[in-house]
Amino acid sequence: MTRKFTGDRLLIATHNQGKLDEMGHLLGPLGVSVVGAAELGLNEPDETETTFAGNARIKAHAAVKATGLPAMADDSGIEIDALGGAPGVYTADWAETPNGRDFVMAMERAWSELEKINAPEPRTARFCCTLVLAWPDGHDEVFEGTVPGRIVWPMRGSEGHGYDPVFMPDGYDITFGEMDRWEKNRISHRGRAVEAFVSACFD
Ligand code: IMP
Repeated sequence: MTRKFTGDRLLIATHNQGKLDEMGHLLGPLGVSVVGAAELGLNEPDETETTFAGNARIKAHAAVKATGLPAMADDSGIEIDALGGAPGVYTADWAETPNGRDFVMAMERAWSELEKINAPEPRTARFCCTLVLAWPDGHDEVFEGTVPGRIVWPMRGSEGHGYDPVFMPDGYDITFGEMDRWEKNRISHRGRAVEAFVSACFD
């Protein structure tokens, strides 16, 4: 039996403002406001697992331990078929530089690896999102969402975050970077994972 969430404020264990904004946007209509890990001065734990669920569990339980509050963590990334599912759980790592994250560099790497192997079109890929909601007694619930699409070049659009400018979801001829955020949240991996969370944890 899934445990229900009865609060009106949820700690989101992320330092990523783009993800926090999306979660606020998705949960606002349910009367739930979100607070981010950076606002509470929480540290970012090392993501040492090899699955989205494993890493989301690490982040959610670390935030619960530090605050005593129920916390939700998201681990997400993009899997590119012709690259054997890379970058996958290493999606953020591809953007790391000594001066912070550079997603233009990460998108250029993804495209140049596809070009190097002359990958056939369409260059199919999916965004994946795993959400873990953890409680102070150690209980947790896991929710997943994916959105299929393909990698396109050049980058298009300035909406969203991360790899959005090179991801075109199936059934659309615009990228996530060109999509209005209501529309993106309706169909995105995070939107779908939140939908699963809402139908399981709210009456
Ligand atoms: P992590 O979950 O913080 O380890 O990082 C996952 C990475 O995947 C993020 O830093 C983003 O670059 C990328 N990512 C996840 N969701 C999205 C999205 O909705 N749009 C674009 N990039 C995303």
